[in-house]
Amino acid sequence: MATGYCFLCGNWETVEEHHIFGGPFRKKATKYKLTVQLCPWCHQYDADSAHKSAETRLYLRKYGQQKAMKEQGWTAEDFIREFGTNYLDPDEIEAMNGCDDWQNNSFRVIEDIELPY
Ligand SMILES: [Zn+2]
Ligand SMILES: [Zn+2]
Repeated sequence: MATGYCFLCGNWETVEEHHIFGGPFRKKATKYKLTVQLCPWCHQYDADSAHKSAETRLYLRKYGQQKAMKEQGWTAEDFIREFGTNYLDPDEIEAMNGCDDWQNNSFRVIEDIELPY
């Protein structure tokens, strides 16, 4: 089993790969590397885990859409064409477009949840 930093809680733990977009989009999530490493608690066990909490799921999908748009050079429309839904608010998209620092992770669109790195 893999060990690493959990994307959500930041703990060094056993981690499992979570597909940010599942179901019919799972293969595309793999193709575009829209996956995160999560500890078992953040992945499935806890009430606010990715598989139990709609809020956590939405948070990850916002992150995933940002990642795809930045890495693939997509507009929101391109993302919708691939993954069916837009998860970002217009101001979140606007803020992201003005940011060159995505690779350094110093920018966060979603301000009320702090990422561990
Ligand atoms: Zn965790
Ligand atoms: Zn999962």
